[in-house]
Amino acid sequence: NTGAADAKNLKVKLVLLGDSGVGKSCIVLRFVRGQFDPTSKVTVGASFLSQTIALQDSTTVKFEIWDTAGQERYAALAPLYYRGAAVAVVVYDITVPESFKKAQFWVKELQKHGSPDIVMALVGNKADLQENRQVPTEDAIEYAEKNGMFFIETSAKTADNINQLFEEIAKRLPRAPP
Ligand code: GDP
Ligand code: MG
Repeated sequence: NTGAADAKNLKVKLVLLGDSGVGKSCIVLRFVRGQFDPTSKVTVGASFLSQTIALQDSTTVKFEIWDTAGQERYAALAPLYYRGAAVAVVVYDITVPESFKKAQFWVKELQKHGSPDIVMALVGNKADLQENRQVPTEDAIEYAEKNGMFFIETSAKTADNINQLFEEIAKRLPRAPP
Protein backbone atom coordinates (compact mmCIF):
# COMPACT_ATOMS: atom_id res chain seq x y z
CA ASN A 1 0.00 0.00 0.00
CA THR A 2 2.98 2.28 -0.22
CA GLY A 3 1.83 4.43 -3.11
CA ALA A 4 5.26 4.46 -4.63
CA ALA A 5 5.96 6.95 -7.39
CA ASP A 6 9.18 4.99 -7.92
CA ALA A 7 11.51 2.97 -5.71
CA LYS A 8 13.36 6.05 -4.48
CA ASN A 9 10.41 8.37 -3.95
CA LEU A 10 7.65 6.99 -1.82
CA LYS A 11 4.28 8.57 -1.22
CA VAL A 12 2.34 7.27 1.74
CA LYS A 13 -0.96 7.94 3.42
CA LEU A 14 -0.52 8.41 7.16
CA VAL A 15 -3.41 8.60 9.61
CA LEU A 16 -3.40 9.61 13.26
CA LEU A 17 -5.66 7.86 15.73
CA GLY A 18 -6.18 8.37 19.43
CA ASP A 19 -8.37 10.08 21.96
CA SER A 20 -9.37 13.67 21.48
CA GLY A 21 -6.90 15.95 23.25
CA VAL A 22 -3.83 13.70 23.20
CA GLY A 23 -2.03 16.07 20.83
CA LYS A 24 -2.48 14.55 17.36
CA SER A 25 -2.94 17.89 15.62
CA CYS A 26 -0.07 19.44 17.55
CA ILE A 27 2.25 16.61 16.49
CA VAL A 28 1.33 17.22 12.84
CA LEU A 29 1.74 20.97 13.16
CA ARG A 30 5.12 20.56 14.83
CA PHE A 31 6.32 18.14 12.17
CA VAL A 32 5.02 20.04 9.13
CA ARG A 33 5.44 23.65 10.21
CA GLY A 34 7.82 23.47 13.14
CA GLN A 35 5.30 25.26 15.31
CA PHE A 36 3.44 24.68 18.54
CA ASP A 37 0.37 26.79 19.14
CA PRO A 38 -1.59 25.74 22.22
CA THR A 39 -4.62 27.74 21.06
CA SER A 40 -4.91 26.60 17.44
CA LYS A 41 -6.91 23.47 18.19
CA VAL A 42 -9.85 23.94 15.86
CA THR A 43 -8.09 25.44 12.85
CA VAL A 44 -5.74 22.47 12.52
CA GLY A 45 -8.67 20.08 12.73
CA ALA A 46 -9.84 19.25 9.25
CA SER A 47 -6.57 19.75 7.47
CA PHE A 48 -4.75 17.54 5.09
CA LEU A 49 -1.04 18.26 5.25
CA SER A 50 1.93 16.79 3.53
CA GLN A 51 5.60 16.74 4.36
CA THR A 52 8.51 15.12 2.57
CA ILE A 53 11.61 13.81 4.28
CA ALA A 54 14.84 12.49 2.84
CA LEU A 55 16.51 9.41 4.25
CA GLN A 56 20.23 8.65 4.34
CA ASP A 57 19.99 6.30 1.36
CA SER A 58 18.57 9.24 -0.68
CA THR A 59 15.06 7.82 -0.64
CA THR A 60 12.42 10.48 -0.17
CA VAL A 61 9.17 9.83 1.62
CA LYS A 62 6.20 12.10 1.12
CA PHE A 63 3.74 11.72 3.99
CA GLU A 64 0.16 12.63 3.16
CA ILE A 65 -1.12 13.21 6.65
CA TRP A 66 -4.77 12.83 7.52
CA ASP A 67 -5.58 14.57 10.75
CA THR A 68 -9.10 14.13 12.08
CA ALA A 69 -11.49 16.94 12.76
CA GLY A 70 -12.81 15.15 15.81
CA GLN A 71 -13.99 11.99 14.02
CA GLU A 72 -11.97 10.11 16.63
CA ARG A 73 -15.09 10.42 18.75
CA TYR A 74 -16.99 8.22 16.31
CA ALA A 75 -15.39 4.80 16.06
CA ALA A 76 -17.83 3.83 13.31
CA LEU A 77 -16.36 6.44 10.95
CA ALA A 78 -12.78 5.36 11.50
CA PRO A 79 -12.61 2.70 8.76
CA LEU A 80 -13.34 5.36 6.13
CA TYR A 81 -10.48 7.34 7.47
CA TYR A 82 -7.77 4.67 7.75
CA ARG A 83 -8.72 2.85 4.54
CA GLY A 84 -5.65 2.54 2.32
CA ALA A 85 -3.35 4.00 4.95
CA ALA A 86 0.23 2.72 4.78
CA VAL A 87 0.96 4.17 8.21
CA ALA A 88 -1.09 4.55 11.37
CA VAL A 89 0.22 6.64 14.23
CA VAL A 90 -1.65 5.75 17.40
CA VAL A 91 -1.26 8.47 20.00
CA TYR A 92 -1.94 8.60 23.73
CA ASP A 93 -1.19 11.16 26.43
CA ILE A 94 1.33 9.91 29.03
CA THR A 95 -0.66 11.76 31.73
CA VAL A 96 -4.01 10.09 30.88
CA PRO A 97 -4.30 6.31 31.45
CA GLU A 98 -7.65 6.09 29.61
CA SER A 99 -5.96 7.43 26.51
CA PHE A 100 -3.49 4.53 26.67
CA LYS A 101 -6.42 2.11 26.90
CA LYS A 102 -8.01 3.81 23.91
CA ALA A 103 -4.75 3.50 21.99
CA GLN A 104 -4.89 -0.26 22.55
CA PHE A 105 -8.44 -0.29 21.21
CA TRP A 106 -7.25 1.42 18.02
CA VAL A 107 -4.37 -1.02 17.62
CA LYS A 108 -6.79 -3.95 17.78
CA GLU A 109 -9.11 -2.23 15.33
CA LEU A 110 -6.25 -1.68 12.87
CA GLN A 111 -5.05 -5.27 13.26
CA LYS A 112 -8.54 -6.44 12.35
CA HIS A 113 -9.49 -4.00 9.61
CA GLY A 114 -6.41 -2.09 8.48
CA SER A 115 -4.17 -2.92 5.52
CA PRO A 116 -2.26 -6.12 6.31
CA ASP A 117 1.11 -4.46 5.72
CA ILE A 118 0.30 -1.27 7.63
CA VAL A 119 3.17 0.23 9.62
CA MET A 120 1.97 1.12 13.11
CA ALA A 121 3.61 3.44 15.58
CA LEU A 122 2.60 3.85 19.22
CA VAL A 123 3.26 7.38 20.47
CA GLY A 124 3.19 8.56 24.08
CA ASN A 125 2.82 12.32 23.68
CA LYS A 126 3.19 15.19 26.20
CA ALA A 127 6.46 13.72 27.46
CA ASP A 128 7.30 17.21 28.75
CA LEU A 129 4.71 16.65 31.51
CA GLN A 130 6.93 14.16 33.38
CA GLU A 131 5.67 15.26 36.78
CA ASN A 132 2.12 14.25 35.79
CA ARG A 133 3.04 10.96 34.16
CA GLN A 134 0.48 8.19 34.69
CA VAL A 135 1.51 5.73 31.99
CA PRO A 136 4.89 4.10 32.71
CA THR A 137 7.20 3.95 29.70
CA GLU A 138 7.83 0.24 30.39
CA ASP A 139 4.12 -0.60 29.99
CA ALA A 140 4.06 0.99 26.57
CA ILE A 141 7.32 -0.66 25.51
CA GLU A 142 5.96 -4.04 26.51
CA TYR A 143 2.67 -3.48 24.69
CA ALA A 144 4.41 -2.24 21.53
CA GLU A 145 6.80 -5.20 21.47
CA LYS A 146 3.95 -7.67 21.81
CA ASN A 147 2.17 -6.05 18.90
CA GLY A 148 5.14 -5.54 16.62
CA MET A 149 4.89 -1.77 16.71
CA PHE A 150 7.43 0.96 16.83
CA PHE A 151 7.17 2.99 20.09
CA ILE A 152 8.37 6.47 20.97
CA GLU A 153 7.54 9.19 23.49
CA THR A 154 7.24 12.69 22.05
CA SER A 155 6.48 16.24 22.98
CA ALA A 156 4.82 18.42 20.37
CA LYS A 157 5.40 21.28 22.80
CA THR A 158 9.19 21.00 23.04
CA ALA A 159 9.59 19.18 19.66
CA ASP A 160 11.27 16.29 21.44
CA ASN A 161 11.37 13.16 19.22
CA ILE A 162 8.90 14.53 16.66
CA ASN A 163 11.23 14.31 13.65
CA GLN A 164 12.58 11.00 14.97
CA LEU A 165 9.05 9.60 14.98
CA PHE A 166 8.58 10.25 11.27
CA GLU A 167 12.12 9.18 10.35
CA GLU A 168 11.69 5.85 12.12
CA ILE A 169 8.36 5.30 10.38
CA ALA A 170 9.96 6.06 7.01
CA LYS A 171 12.69 3.51 7.65
CA ARG A 172 10.10 0.83 8.38
CA LEU A 173 8.07 1.26 5.20
CA PRO A 174 8.00 -1.71 2.87
CA ARG A 175 10.12 -1.00 -0.20
CA ALA A 176 9.64 -2.15 -3.72
CA PRO A 177 12.66 -4.11 -4.92
CA PRO A 178 15.08 -1.89 -6.89
P1 GDP B 1 -5.93 16.26 19.37
O1 GDP B 1 -7.36 16.39 19.78
O2 GDP B 1 -5.41 14.88 19.60
O3 GDP B 1 -5.66 16.73 17.97
O4 GDP B 1 -5.08 17.20 20.36
P2 GDP B 1 -4.50 18.67 20.08
O5 GDP B 1 -3.33 18.59 19.17
O6 GDP B 1 -5.60 19.57 19.70
O7 GDP B 1 -3.94 19.04 21.54
C1 GDP B 1 -4.80 19.03 22.66
C2 GDP B 1 -4.21 19.88 23.75
O8 GDP B 1 -2.99 19.32 24.23
C3 GDP B 1 -3.87 21.30 23.31
O9 GDP B 1 -4.25 22.18 24.35
C4 GDP B 1 -2.37 21.29 23.14
O10 GDP B 1 -1.82 22.55 23.41
C5 GDP B 1 -1.94 20.26 24.17
N1 GDP B 1 -0.72 19.55 23.75
C6 GDP B 1 -0.52 18.89 22.59
N2 GDP B 1 0.69 18.32 22.56
C7 GDP B 1 1.29 18.63 23.74
C8 GDP B 1 2.57 18.31 24.31
O11 GDP B 1 3.42 17.63 23.73
N3 GDP B 1 2.81 18.79 25.57
C9 GDP B 1 1.90 19.53 26.26
N4 GDP B 1 2.23 19.95 27.47
N5 GDP B 1 0.69 19.85 25.74
C10 GDP B 1 0.39 19.40 24.50
MG1 MG C 1 -6.98 17.32 16.51
